[in-house]
Amino acid sequence: MDAMDYGPSATPRALATEAVHAGREDLASLGLHAPPIDLSTTYPSYDARAEAARIDEFATTGARLDGPPVYARLDNPTVARFEEALARLEGAEAAVAFASGMAALTAVLLARASQGLRHVVAVRPLYGCSDHLLDAGLLGTEVTWTDPAGVADAIRPDTGLVMVESPANPTLAEADIRALAHSCGSVPLLVDNTFATPVLQRPVEQGARIVLHSATKYLGGHGDVMGGIVACDEEFARTLRQVRFATGGVLHPLAGYLLLRGLSTLPVRVRAASGTAAELVRRLATDPRIARVHYPRIGGAMIAFEVYGDPHDVIAGVRLITPAVSLGSVDTLIQHPASISHRIVAEGDRRSSGVSDRLLRMSVGLEDVEDLWRDLTQALSAPPAGSLRAVPAADGRPVEVPRPVAR
Ligand SMILES: *Cc1c(COP(=O)(O)O)cnc(C)c1O
Repeated sequence: MDAMDYGPSATPRALATEAVHAGREDLASLGLHAPPIDLSTTYPSYDARAEAARIDEFATTGARLDGPPVYARLDNPTVARFEEALARLEGAEAAVAFASGMAALTAVLLARASQGLRHVVAVRPLYGCSDHLLDAGLLGTEVTWTDPAGVADAIRPDTGLVMVESPANPTLAEADIRALAHSCGSVPLLVDNTFATPVLQRPVEQGARIVLHSATKYLGGHGDVMGGIVACDEEFARTLRQVRFATGGVLHPLAGYLLLRGLSTLPVRVRAASGTAAELVRRLATDPRIARVHYPRIGGAMIAFEVYGDPHDVIAGVRLITPAVSLGSVDTLIQHPASISHRIVAEGDRRSSGVSDRLLRMSVGLEDVEDLWRDLTQALSAPPAGSLRAVPAADGRPVEVPRPVAR
């Protein structure tokens, strides 16, 4: 097992152990087993002088306060448990949670811009909305798009961040994080680790200074909670906490509770779904209906493939697999990036970064591999939209049924 060292006093513990214990160490001493959910928006104090001193300290340092958080936009004990656990899994000093992955990226960009560093160097493809946030300059940032080999040359004196996704959404393209971190010099490298999760890859160990997650995906793992989190060193975490306090993109405590619970099964879920994904990739790779399969060397539960036929027919043809955006849930989802997740990226930029119009992205869940294959292969055989298709009746006799319209 990959044992991780958390400082001189800590005994190195394996990822699977950290996943179920990190952020929960004090529970037994509190006489609890499940983490408590603190929904307070405010915290009483009869000593306003002491509160003033604590507020001053947060305003000047961004360090987490000892004792009650004063106000829920400053901090929350339930969310802090999730932050502690994710930091440990990523091998980072700290983590700061936000209302969504996009709120987390926004805070990172604002934190750098507040230090006068508004220029970002980024490698395509990125998640469609991350691409849009940078490209549209919504936060006053300016972006230079480049490939990994061009990063060093693209860096300017006002560059505050280099950003990459590996494996990337949706093509699963991989970057050499160690080499990229080297090219960045003193500029922090942000790796969006949403697809790999710390189970498959810990970018901090390879030199990344900032690790971003859409917690909505694998960390939550059940398609029922939205969140984002940034793992980094304590120094940058302090700036992020101040930005979060001032801009308000906080994670709700109930979401913090669900995300901490999600982390406990993260290694089991990711490994099981990755095994199924690898088997589907093996079958797709020799299927005559498939032009190209994309699957990263580090593995994982995300697969992508290009079809010879119409990708919209595959989306309309699935029955067990759900045609929906998002990923990382216990059930399998499929979507067409050019229509949905990367629609907001300009067509030329989309195509030149490898997001072909025939590409389908699938997030493999925990269903049985044979059931998934059966559904996928019948959807791939779907006749053109609008026509009738033959399906076997219960007695094996082929019958013609009208094709249902896309849901
Ligand atoms: C979904 C996603 C995001 C955005 O996260 P939200 O939680 O939807 O705001 C960012 N990066 C990647 C790789 C994603 O898949």
